Amino acid sequence: MRATLVYGPDDVRVEEVPDPTLREPTDAVVRVLGSGICEGDLVFARWTPASEQGVRFGHEFLGVVEDIGSEVSGLSVGDLVVAPYMWSDNTCDFCAEGLHASCRQAGRWGTAGVDGAQGDAVRVPYAQGTLVPLSVGEDWALLASVLTLSDVLPTAHHAAVKAGVGPRTSVTVIGDDAIGLLAVLAARRLGADRILLMSGRPQRARLGREFGATDVIAERGDEGVAQARELTGGRGTHVVLECTGTRPALETAFAVVRDNGVISRAGVVQYAEGPIGRDMILRSITLTGGAASPRLYMEHLLPDILNGTIEPGRVFDRTASLAEVPDGYRAMAAGDALKVLIRP
Ligand SMILES: [Zn+2]
Repeated sequence: MRATLVYGPDDVRVEEVPDPTLREPTDAVVRVLGSGICEGDLVFARWTPASEQGVRFGHEFLGVVEDIGSEVSGLSVGDLVVAPYMWSDNTCDFCAEGLHASCRQAGRWGTAGVDGAQGDAVRVPYAQGTLVPLSVGEDWALLASVLTLSDVLPTAHHAAVKAGVGPRTSVTVIGDDAIGLLAVLAARRLGADRILLMSGRPQRARLGREFGATDVIAERGDEGVAQARELTGGRGTHVVLECTGTRPALETAFAVVRDNGVISRAGVVQYAEGPIGRDMILRSITLTGGAASPRLYMEHLLPDILNGTIEPGRVFDRTASLAEVPDGYRAMAAGDALKVLIRP
């Protein structure tokens, strides 16, 4: 089969690899119908050290079960399933609390001899605990939305949940990549009444407004901060959802959050130090966020996708074959594509 490998910084290739087969009785093999390129993939591809053997990539996928191990129940060959960005057993003490990202058996696609999602097929460890069966047909408008359940939508939703977003909450979203736009959607879905989206790209800002942003701030840095303050009577917003992972964005977050507010982070954090000293304590600001447990949130969010309340799949603005994956990475890195849907 074909799979995506990264051989060094931004060196993305699609190559022939061995077909996956069952290794453990708890495994399944899934033929991939759709996978995604995530902003996180771009960051990790940039950080990948040069190697001879390459690293398998991709962590968002849905597909059809092709083979199942003897200890997997609740799944059948031919089932359409969606997978979270990590596998988990769904039985340990962390999973029992809905904290699947901390599962004692958790692992990431493309590691530990397991396939990445950007390929023709994937061997799925702990298949029963990991895969969520879907009873939908091959309708790509719907499947694109379902595919966001692998990572980007639960990640955005988690940031909003950790921040306590609800009715009467004002929110600033920093970032207009897929996670930022979906953070707008998630905040709106949780009832936020005012959502300021910081986005300098008109097309993305338009989708952000359709997802629920009430105001768009095109300026960055001090000017953007001044505008956010002006729009909120000088106070700032209760919540800031920081969806870029960069240090300047974190600084902007501290500047636009209201005293006693919450900054919640989604996306791959690309810094190790930040302004978490005395000012943060004196202003009683909470800093939160972290790895979402999509296995849990999938069950909360899927009904809204199936009944058409939300259409998160609108973040996919380009479809690529497997052979076009390296171009897809380049297009997203250059900002020419918001998010790429891969249909092998
Ligand atoms: Zn577990």
